[in-house]
Amino acid sequence: MDLASVQSDIEKVIVNEEQLQNRLKEIARQIENDYKDQDLLLIGVLKGAVMVMADLTRHINRHVEIDWMAVSSYGSGTKSSGVVRILKDLDRDITGRNVVIIEDIVDTGLTLDWLSQNLKSRGAGSVEIMTVLRKPDAAMVKVDIRYVGFDIPKDFVIGYGLDFNEKYRNLPFIAVLAKHMYE
Ligand code: 5GP
Repeated sequence: MDLASVQSDIEKVIVNEEQLQNRLKEIARQIENDYKDQDLLLIGVLKGAVMVMADLTRHINRHVEIDWMAVSSYGSGTKSSGVVRILKDLDRDITGRNVVIIEDIVDTGLTLDWLSQNLKSRGAGSVEIMTVLRKPDAAMVKVDIRYVGFDIPKDFVIGYGLDFNEKYRNLPFIAVLAKHMYE
């Protein structure tokens, strides 16, 4: 879906399509380098990571395996609590595997912290994290993020996998949702 189709719903585009793809190419080179001659399993968190998984893996010039998890985090209202329920689990055992979790955005980091501990407890050889976007609060959590696309302000953003009421995921860029859409 293009910008013209959502122009009145958004305040501004903060990461355009070209910037996104260029950054993903850089991260792909880093991953190729970091896992040279090593096993590599990318685990995407549904549904937000669908776009980044599709693009990032096509920029990576080596074999990778892909699996998916879906989790729901319980919280009061819009606040993430860190209490997580698995809605869809991995298809395969990850004992000894080098895992990179692929995420769309890290806000408080509570969900990711739980997920990363969960995968380690299953005996993964290593667990690293890649996220397209990171919000300022993420700096306060102990979870270490190896690959970050862009650091962004606290605003509520949509596009490139990120939704507002399940819409806008199919935008090829990232934009701040206009206040009139939710106020
Ligand atoms: P946390 O890091 O706080 O545990 O939770 C991160 C989750 O909150 C993300 O996976 C995403 O679903 C949601 N989230 C946080 N910030 C935003 C945002 O700006 N836009 C959208 N669409 N979702 C967000």
